[in-house]
Amino acid sequence: MPQIKRVRTKTIRIGSVPIGGKNPIAIQSMTNTFTTDIRATLGQIRACAEAGCDIIRVTVPDQKALEAFAEIKKQSPLPVVADIHFDHRLAIGAIAAGADKIRINPGNIPGRAKLKEIIAAARKHHTPIRLGVNAGSTRKDLAALAVEYCTFFEAQKFTNLVLSLKSSSVPDTLAAHAKILAKRNYPLHIGITEAGTAYYGAIKSAVGLGALLSRGIGDTLRVSLTADPVKEVTAARYILKALGLIKCPEVIACPTCGRTQIDIIGLANTVEQKLQKLNKNITVAVMGCVVNGPGEAARADYGIAGGKGQGIIFARGRKLKTVPEKDLVAELFKLIN
Ligand code: SF4
Repeated sequence: MPQIKRVRTKTIRIGSVPIGGKNPIAIQSMTNTFTTDIRATLGQIRACAEAGCDIIRVTVPDQKALEAFAEIKKQSPLPVVADIHFDHRLAIGAIAAGADKIRINPGNIPGRAKLKEIIAAARKHHTPIRLGVNAGSTRKDLAALAVEYCTFFEAQKFTNLVLSLKSSSVPDTLAAHAKILAKRNYPLHIGITEAGTAYYGAIKSAVGLGALLSRGIGDTLRVSLTADPVKEVTAARYILKALGLIKCPEVIACPTCGRTQIDIIGLANTVEQKLQKLNKNITVAVMGCVVNGPGEAARADYGIAGGKGQGIIFARGRKLKTVPEKDLVAELFKLIN
């Protein structure tokens, strides 16, 4: 697979995770529990971490949430970003509590003096700030607004910045990124905001983020789904995998047709679920018949080519054995493991 040439941006550290420059593209998600429910929030963070998330964002809407955030930060296995709106004191509190980054929309922090207070706290604690410009909260041109915010922060000599320019429109998102790249080189957090439910949202995100990533744009991404955050992480991994931007297992599976004589849909889903738990950069082909089956199965690291109630198992191009359908998954994973 030809390598995508990444747009070179400045490197910023989000806790233990560097983003920008040549660093791997980091996967983010956001908890959707009440932040005050520390146990549930940490449970979701751990589930996201296990699914392959690199950085987690947690909302801090009020003082009680800020107190919970401090505890969550202490126990989180992932760097934690505090999501702040309207109240600059919460941003300052989250920074003092050890937030690995804060995300603000400068447009909804009233008054430049309050922004300066946030900057002073972030400078003191070396905390990066994501300037999040969102089409849902402005009618202005996203890139022009981002540049305006950057200019203000730069005038305060604060450049520990990450930018995000998000819209629920894919064409608007692409246009905004083309413009901002001509003006600034801060790392870019990319996403299609409010993309939708799990299925449509993942497809819409794949179209939008795929277009950006294929042009080398994006240092960290979040797939925004109206669903469990773990689904966001899985979708993000699949988008990166499809472009060869992450090392993780991949299942190639035929779409099935009238020739299929074993349960390829069931097999492909089972193989995919089992592979997700393995941290191996391998490709497994699950194919229905001899038309394309042996060819794809032989090209993949491992493969199954189905027959009538049975399948042939391949490993690295070699046909190994013919196995009854009921034993295919077990035999395949014996080999993989
Ligand atoms: S590999 Fe065989 S079963 Fe699968 S879609 Fe192609 S022809 Fe049909």
